[in-house]
This record gives sequence, C-alpha cells and structure tokens, in this order.
Amino acid sequence: MKIKILLSTLLFLQQIFAQSILPPVAAWNGKSESLIANATNPWITPTEKSDFVITPDYNETINWLQKLAAASPIISMVSIGKSAEGRDIVMLIASTEKIITAAALKKSAKPLLLVQAGIHSGEIDGKDAGMMLLRDIAFGTKKYLLDKVNFLFIPILNVDGHERSSSYNRPNQRGPQNMGWRTNAQNLNLNRDYAKIDSKEIRAVIKVMNEYDPLLYMDIHVTDGADYQYDITFGGHGKQGYSTGISNWLANTYKPFADKELTAQGHIPGSLLTTVNDRDFSDGNILILGEPRFSDAYGDLRHMASILVENHSLKPYKQRVLGTYVLLQSTLAILATKGSSLKEITTADRAKRATEIPMKWKVPQMEKSVSFEPQSNLLQKNKSALPVDSLSLSGIQSIIKKSSITNADYVVWTGKPITVMIANYRGTEPVNFIKRPKAYYVLASSYEIIERLKMHGIQMELLQQPREVPVEMYRMQTVKIGNEEGKTIPFEGHVQVNASNKAELHKQLYAVGSVRISTDQPLGDLAMLLLEPDSPDSYFQWGFFLSIFQRTEYIEGYVMEPTIQKMLAESPELTKEFELKKNTDPAFANNPNAIYNWFYSKSNYFDQTYLLYPVGREL
Ligand SMILES: [Zn+2]
Repeated sequence: MKIKILLSTLLFLQQIFAQSILPPVAAWNGKSESLIANATNPWITPTEKSDFVITPDYNETINWLQKLAAASPIISMVSIGKSAEGRDIVMLIASTEKIITAAALKKSAKPLLLVQAGIHSGEIDGKDAGMMLLRDIAFGTKKYLLDKVNFLFIPILNVDGHERSSSYNRPNQRGPQNMGWRTNAQNLNLNRDYAKIDSKEIRAVIKVMNEYDPLLYMDIHVTDGADYQYDITFGGHGKQGYSTGISNWLANTYKPFADKELTAQGHIPGSLLTTVNDRDFSDGNILILGEPRFSDAYGDLRHMASILVENHSLKPYKQRVLGTYVLLQSTLAILATKGSSLKEITTADRAKRATEIPMKWKVPQMEKSVSFEPQSNLLQKNKSALPVDSLSLSGIQSIIKKSSITNADYVVWTGKPITVMIANYRGTEPVNFIKRPKAYYVLASSYEIIERLKMHGIQMELLQQPREVPVEMYRMQTVKIGNEEGKTIPFEGHVQVNASNKAELHKQLYAVGSVRISTDQPLGDLAMLLLEPDSPDSYFQWGFFLSIFQRTEYIEGYVMEPTIQKMLAESPELTKEFELKKNTDPAFANNPNAIYNWFYSKSNYFDQTYLLYPVGREL
C-alpha cells in the first residue's frame, strides 16, 4: 500500500514538473465530485484510486471491465474486432433487456446510445468516465438510467495507440500522467478514416453501427489549441449538414438539457470552439462541417444523430472526467424522455431523397470582426461592426508577446477570465451540388471499392448476368496529383487526387460481379459522397483510382506514319485542324512526339478508357 501511495505521489510530481509549462489553471470544485467512489468501495476505478493522476493501461482496463461484466447481470462485454496489433477492441453492453444480441437491441423500442472513447487514445477522459458510470449502473444508484434506454460503450477504440503511453505524448494537455498516442499502430488518424475505412478499428465501429443501429452516437475527444473557461464543449452541426431534423433536435432539445445538467454539477459547458487564426479568438470562432472522414460528419451523412465532445485540454483530468460522466448520464436521461422524438425525426431524415446534394460546405461571410479585447467597452462601441452571427465567449485573456527566439509574435494565456463577444463563423453554405442519379454502377474490377461500400452498410444489387447499361461517366480533364495545394505529400497513407471532369454518355457493359447501387436508400447520400469524384472524401480523391491515369498500349513510329497519312487523306477537317494547331502552337509544331501523340489520341487505336472514371451514373 505504502509503495503504491509513494508511486502515485512520484507520478504526480513528475506530472507537475512535465506540465509546469502550461498556462495557469483555475482552482475547481463541483458537485460532481460526489460521484467519486470512496476508498472502501470495492469497485473503485484505478483512476479514482490514483486521485485522477493516472489512467489504467489496456490490460488493467479490460480486466477491470471483465470483472464488472462477470459480476453484473446487466453488463456484458463483447469484442467488436481486433486492432492492427491484434488487440481486442471491446464494447460493453449495458441493458436490462432479456436478449442483448445486436439484432434484438436494433429491434428494441428502447433508444440505443453508442459512446466511444479513445479514438485518439491520449484523449482518454471518456474511458475513465464510462467505467465509473457503468460501475454506478451495475452496483450504485444509477441503474434507473437503463429503464428506458440501452447503452453501448467502447472504452478504448485506438487500443494500440493507447499502449504507446508516455507523459510527453500530449504537451498541451493537463493529465493524466500516462497518455496514449494519437494515431493507431499504422500511424493512421482514426478520425480521418470514416469514409475511406482503411483501419480495422473504424471498420469495427461501422460494423457496430450497421448491426446495432444506435439512435445516438457520441465520440469523446480532448481539445488542443486555445484557452477558455469552458471545461467541456460539444454539439451537433446546427444549420450545416445532411440531417436537418436531427441537427435541430441536437441544437434545441439535447444541447440545452445537457448544458443545464452540467452547469448544475459545477461544470462550464460550451459549444465547439476553433480559433479562426489558429492562435486566439481575436478573429473569431469557426465551426465547419468536416468531410465524412470525421466521426460526427460521417454520422450526420448516415442520418444518425452524432455528437462530438471536446473536453478542454488545459483543465485538470479530474474535472474533465467528471464532466464527461455528467454528460453521459444526461445523454442517457434525455434519451429516456425524448428518445422517441429523436427516433421519429431520424426516420424522417432517413426517408429524404434530395434531388441534388452539396459536396462541400463553406462559410458564407468571412469579413474581419472586432478584436479580442479584454472586457473592454469596445464591444458596446462597435456592436454594429459585428457580423450577423456572434458569440459571447467565456474566454481567458490572451496577450501577444515578441519571441526572442524567432523574433515573431506568440500568444500567452494569462489565466484571467474575461467575457467578450466574438465573431462566430459557420460553414452553413452548401456548395458544389451534384444531381442524384437513380443508381451507380461499379465495375466488378473495382472489387476493393465494392467491398468498402458493403462495409459501410450500403445496399447493392450484385449482377448475376452481364448487363449493358446506358450510363453517364466522367472523363477526367485537368488532373492534380497531391493535396489541395497541389503538394504531392502523402496524407493518411494516400496520395490524393484532384481533377476537373466532363460528363459523357456511354453504353457500358457490366460483367458478372459488378454492382448496381440504388440511391433510393437511407445511405444514398453517403454513396454519393463516396462515389462522386467532386467529393473531397470520394474514393477517387483518396487515390483509389490512380490506374486510370496510365496509358498502357503503345504505337510505333513506323505504324504512326502511314496511319497519319491515311487519317489526313480521309478527313479534310482533320487536316485543317492540324494546320491550325501547328500554326498557333510552335512548341507542338517542333515536337515530333507531341504530333504523333496528337494523331494517336484521335485514332481508333487509342485507349477509350484513358482518364475515364469507371463508375457509371444511371440517370
Ligand atoms: Zn481528438
């Protein structure tokens, strides 16, 4: 015992040393501290035992949860898949139903909540909060939370990253002492993987979504970046996104309720915050709907209510874990009373079939706003200068200092609380609309893509006979290999592609094994954002179709010469076109290879599938 106490004291001191470089922290006390188990409780969690200095490692976590599940008739534990390094990704099922199979829970009238922690495993607040809550559901006073709701809980999604533990993994975060790593064992950021689904971890979660069909999905993170007073920020997407009914419910029913509960327990809830200028709030806050590579945007596109939670990294671990506990409890509570309304709204959102949908969202107004002056009356004076959308920020004063190292400015957070109105930009403007086709046809040869679409749960018809279909296809025009800035640096294990395209009509023969994907299904919008090459998260832009950029048949010069002579003799128009090209393009005129290629591309020998995106749109 004494050794244990000494160890936790040492760890604590080490943490204080490692984190003395962080901005000042405000002392905190809250009602939610009464949730902490006392030392005599046999189900005290390892984190509570350490007074929130450490978080248990993978084995200790799984063993503790296994014991809990074995001891409680209403908690069970299943593996939902294995990580890249072969660790089981476990999920706890808390339910008072008699049958707790996926099929039974999917059919149950009770709303189903799915919560995942540790997608970025250094941001592990959700795991320790969930362990406390499950303990209180099993052996404390919280069993009533399951009267009208079923609860799925993934304590650690990025299990491999969780074991790459160090007190130096997240320099901007105040505890726990041992933090996991952001990416998985393949160095992939799991919260960029929801569309392309390369990782076993995200494939496992999406399988859970398909098999259990949760009503509400929550993904728990910890921020980086700016300082402010809020200890927990969370929400849906407001006016952005593909599920307007659900977004309204999250904004108007869920968020006010959870905020009230958190406030009553001594927490400071806020909305999701990102500085426009990546430094402080002087240029305002911005909230953009990410691409479906992000958990919450993916959920929105699937028409599944999704909440992104970002605890504030500069708040102490205890405060963050307790806030998360209160949020989880509030979420179960509101699903018990308002779950049926969310269910109705979700059904309505899933039944919509917009005739066209946007591929992207942008911020409509980005004019400069007032500056972030501490508490000044500047706001009163300049109220009319504020953009339409503004936000009262419970902030922390920041000052700009000159660095003697770089000679540039840097921000210093003073720890002094201030309240100020700031500009609040939101990406509510849909752009780049694409018309919904009746269906997509994917060639049997794109079996890799077909497999991934299946994993998303997208319904499809597998062709048992060859079928010739009139379809619209895209021919790529200007091609940019690399990211949006045109740099060919790999991103998340891929080299991305950007290309303009032109639609063409084709009569395409689809072999056995090809698929037809109707867009008249709840995941029709998702199919569009995965298959339309203008979508930033399409398989095309992730570089899954690089082979269309290669020409693979050749023609020799001794065949070209007679071919060209024949072509010119047969077509006076072509002769004219050639003369014009030579006269207006000297580089072309002086390049024999370019001339051969020009004629080759106009000959019958040329590859008709060159630059042709092999996914067909049935109009
Ligand atoms: Zn995160």
